[in-house]
Amino acid sequence: MSETRTEIASLGEFGLIQRLSQGFEATLPDTVKGIGDDTAVIDLGHEYGLLTTDLLLEGVHFDLTFSPLRHLGYKAIAVNVSDIAAMNGTPGQVTVSLAISNRFSVEALEDLYAGIKAACADFRVDLVGGDTSSSRSGLLISVSVFGKVAKEKIAYRATARPNDLLCVTGDLGGAYLGLQVLEREKQVYLANPGMQPQLKGNEYIIQRQLKPEARMDVVYELDEAGVIPTSMIDVSDGMASDLLHICSQSGVGAMVFEENLPIDEQVYLAATELNLSPLTAAMNGGEDYELLFTIRQADYDKIKNNPKVSVIGYITDQPDVVQLTSKGGNKVPITAQGWNHFS
Ligand code: ADP
Ligand code: MG
Repeated sequence: MSETRTEIASLGEFGLIQRLSQGFEATLPDTVKGIGDDTAVIDLGHEYGLLTTDLLLEGVHFDLTFSPLRHLGYKAIAVNVSDIAAMNGTPGQVTVSLAISNRFSVEALEDLYAGIKAACADFRVDLVGGDTSSSRSGLLISVSVFGKVAKEKIAYRATARPNDLLCVTGDLGGAYLGLQVLEREKQVYLANPGMQPQLKGNEYIIQRQLKPEARMDVVYELDEAGVIPTSMIDVSDGMASDLLHICSQSGVGAMVFEENLPIDEQVYLAATELNLSPLTAAMNGGEDYELLFTIRQADYDKIKNNPKVSVIGYITDQPDVVQLTSKGGNKVPITAQGWNHFS
């Protein structure tokens, strides 16, 4: 260890990962892709294996005052499956590791596992192992997923090409605004425990926060339509931040059209109520777990009638020039304001 002290916040999450992983270039012949994409890629001979892991920590990623354990179990699996989906892969086996305190009853943990089971059924994965430990402060859930993809169908972040169409599944900003509504109601409750939470009208965005889906449905539909995305990432840190990953790793730029962004009515309503910008929620709110991907223009006809897919822009040949054309016709640079747990 050197004498200088660098604060983690000065690097940010991605800078920290980059710094710590320096000097860990892949040495094994079957390690196809190490750090830097949604999953690691391993050569299995006739196809690729995909490996990913994610950590959910109480107080950082979830708040048990409003996260039912059943939803949390579902989410822990879904967010990992989402990374497999982002490689255009199919998930297979999962491991679940827990650190728990005696604050939880066996029944509460069974609830967590009911959610895990529902997700295993929905995404057709098998729970095959894990680890269990005690915790002195809060609940920790660590999930890993192993999946597979045919070699010719894999979708990396680094392979978008100029003139490709930029697409996103579902709608954006809901999970972030759902969290804002839950936080607001928690504050109301803490101030006056007699008050019932006012969640009516916000059911969809709350569900987006508490029980997100991995878009395996779209992965299968694209496959049936004969479309292989030229690049793909899942929207976990916010669309802007994730688009910047695709652009910087592919050495391209992008133009996004505000009027094409898929934003649900509840997002507009909640944003107005909370005095927040629906555009900022859609661009920078995280945790939507939708897929952001590019396709060849020639494939447009194959996706144009899929209601789950919106074409929101296109890829340009100007490296790192990533812009939004506003509804008023102004071009503004897209910047990342994704989650930074260290700031
Ligand atoms: P995602 O949001 O898709 O889960 P992350 O942004 O968490 O991806 O991680 C980006 C890349 O950095 C991934 O390849 C991930 O495996 C890798 N990574 C994250 N944390 C670490 C770590 N502590 N050590 C090594 N690699 C890491
Ligand atoms: Mg990801």
